[in-house]
Amino acid sequence: MLNLVLFGAPGSGKGTQSAKIIDNYGLHHISTGEVLREHIKNETDLGKTAQKYISEGQLIPDDLMISILDDVLEKEAKGKKGVIFDGFPRTIPQAKALDELLKKRGTELHAVVGLEVPEEELVERMLARGKETGRADDNLETIKKRLDVYHNQTSPLRDHYKNQNKYLQINGSGNVDDIYRDIASKIDEAVGSGKT
Ligand code: AMP
Repeated sequence: MLNLVLFGAPGSGKGTQSAKIIDNYGLHHISTGEVLREHIKNETDLGKTAQKYISEGQLIPDDLMISILDDVLEKEAKGKKGVIFDGFPRTIPQAKALDELLKKRGTELHAVVGLEVPEEELVERMLARGKETGRADDNLETIKKRLDVYHNQTSPLRDHYKNQNKYLQINGSGNVDDIYRDIASKIDEAVGSGKT
């Protein structure tokens, strides 16, 4: 299996680049944000809980988020060539839980693709996405809260994965195809072609 995390601030292009990685490496995509938005759309109990956190730009509590991911892996990951995790982990406890969830399935995390984009560009991209898609948390007030949460709770994962030699640093500004080429060459360098 090839298991990758796509890591970066909100608006760094995780969704866009994961689509390209999936196409080329045949991986299964799990976006925790999309899983939660689907629950909100379907008005499930979980959706109602998630809505409160998402509209405030806050993270869903770790225990809840980890058990959701465990369920999704159980339902979706069996027999797949590998998984690309988009938007998970977002905290150190989530990173530790991911190691456990993969270990109990006889596999591991191979690399973390870190998309690095200047803050001004992140805000511009999210405001544009909000206009295009109507995504409710892409408004300036919530964007600022999400960026604070990223700096306080998520960005420490960069060093966590650097210390494990799993972090692939990517300049996430500029042309989407150029960024993808850089990602693919760094994945191949780190884990072989990965297309086994
Ligand atoms: P995203 O689509 O990844 O930007 O996620 C949208 C929102 O869903 C985030 O701002 C959080 O409120 C929530 N969310 C998504 N993934 C996680 C996670 N791994 N842990 C906690 N909250 C999450």
